[in-house]
Amino acid sequence: MHEYSVVASLIELCEENAKKHHAKEIKKIVVSIGVRSGMDKSLFISAFETFREESIFCKDSLLEIIDQCVVLECKGCKHQFETQEMEYGICPKCQENDLQIIKGTEMFLMNLELLQEEDV
Ligand SMILES: [Zn+2]
Repeated sequence: MHEYSVVASLIELCEENAKKHHAKEIKKIVVSIGVRSGMDKSLFISAFETFREESIFCKDSLLEIIDQCVVLECKGCKHQFETQEMEYGICPKCQENDLQIIKGTEMFLMNLELLQEEDV
């Protein structure tokens, strides 16, 4: 499943960050999931629950997911706007229909809260 490989590399990335900052563990992981990323949120969460067991850093981490809606940019006038529509539609400003998605198609790590050795 796609979600499993995504979560596996996400945890890898988190661990790299934790090691780099000499953290003891990761308190909280904040990810942004675009509504058009093709990611199934419940699968994503269950994949996370599976992988965290094997990670010393992520074992007790809280997972927070932020839904990123679709943001379009008009190629004509550079106007950017959010949309809930599945169709691209037209630019509300100049009525141009040459639009591109600039947000909402990706999943990425937004923030990590690390627990440092000296905090304990
Ligand atoms: Zn426009």
